[in-house]
Amino acid sequence: MAYSERVSNLYKEQLKGIQEAGIFKQERFIHSPQAADIEVEYPAGASLKKVINMCSNNYLGLSSHPDVLKAAHEGLDARGYGMSSVRFICGTQDIHRELERNVTAFLGTEDTLLFPSCMDANAGVFEAILTKEDVMISDRLVHASLIDGIRLCSAIHDTYKHSDMGHLEEKLQLHSDKRLKIVITDGVFSMDGDTAKLDLMVSLCEKYDAMLLVDESHASGFIGKTGRGTHERCGVVGKIDIITTTFGKALGGASGGCVSGRKELVEMCRQKARPYLFSNTIAPVVVAGVLKVLEILAASTERRDKLEKNAAYWRKGLTEAGFVLKEGDTPIVPVMLFNAKLAQDLSKALYDEGIYAIGFFFPVVPQGQARIRTQISAGHEIHHLDKALSAFIKVGKKFNILGKTKQEIVEMYGL
Ligand SMILES: *Cc1c(COP(=O)(O)O)cnc(C)c1O
Repeated sequence: MAYSERVSNLYKEQLKGIQEAGIFKQERFIHSPQAADIEVEYPAGASLKKVINMCSNNYLGLSSHPDVLKAAHEGLDARGYGMSSVRFICGTQDIHRELERNVTAFLGTEDTLLFPSCMDANAGVFEAILTKEDVMISDRLVHASLIDGIRLCSAIHDTYKHSDMGHLEEKLQLHSDKRLKIVITDGVFSMDGDTAKLDLMVSLCEKYDAMLLVDESHASGFIGKTGRGTHERCGVVGKIDIITTTFGKALGGASGGCVSGRKELVEMCRQKARPYLFSNTIAPVVVAGVLKVLEILAASTERRDKLEKNAAYWRKGLTEAGFVLKEGDTPIVPVMLFNAKLAQDLSKALYDEGIYAIGFFFPVVPQGQARIRTQISAGHEIHHLDKALSAFIKVGKKFNILGKTKQEIVEMYGL
């Protein structure tokens, strides 16, 4: 058999395995801007269907906001399309630095460095500031991009049980001999929608001389009284050594990320972080858009307030209907189904009712924890939520899971 054929067969076999495990990811093509109402082609080749989007990270509904579009158009005209260079050669414009200053002010930190994405920020930050004499202690449920950044760094790695402060303290004691210690967490955890206990974590880090890094991708723009993030909610603004976050979710939803925090740490990233040094940064048109987003957020808390109301309304509706939810108070509202196939079947049935919400199952969430993760947006109006709720209730009845406990659902459908 020719080499190329052997290679093809090898991967065909692996792809078949993925398909048979029922975890093959199928793209759905959206033919409209990102918003509460979208037009979707699914499966490929099917005619377009208008559905309500319940699974985007467009928390503030700014992805297609007219003021953001206008600012982006103006940015495109004023600063061009591309930089054709990395930052430190000839890829930095005045607006990149302006955005860094404005993000610093928004997050309440000392300085900020832009990255092509938050994935890149997380990939670069640890290697830039730590050596093998140091230790990284991470929550067991941190985002995949933090795990990759940890892998790229020579420092020792240890973990603590999810949000377990007693266990974190044990690990801080265990590693008291290391040169530097850094504790690593998400601010809001994306799969469960729960929030890190940053007030307690700051105290522990002070007690044991450790740094704290918080990934605020699912928090920046809407968590806390003025939407600064989890540190605002927990009353520890100015006390987080490093915040990483994305502009690809609530803050306009296009792309880009950053490392923000103590100025010497940020400067170390500017000198050494490889995704910053060796990859083009955010395009001028996107920089102009994010600048406008920050201006909108500084002018009013209207959008995050509406999001909070919408999320409470949605959570209450699903609870009263008798669904099993993950507890929490963020716009991430997971409807627990436990069984992977049930999650997929429910998602399909919802789509037929005009509701777009995706099933998540192992390995994205732990085995036996399959769910439909709904995400609420300030772009939703009450009529969207009411329509989605009716569809959930109709489908919930069809699958006979309303008012059922976890145990009863598992008995019916298995794990
Ligand atoms: C989405 C996400 C990222 C990646 O953000 P990008 O800017 O799209 O790379 C990183 N961390 C967390 C916690 C996220 O949810």
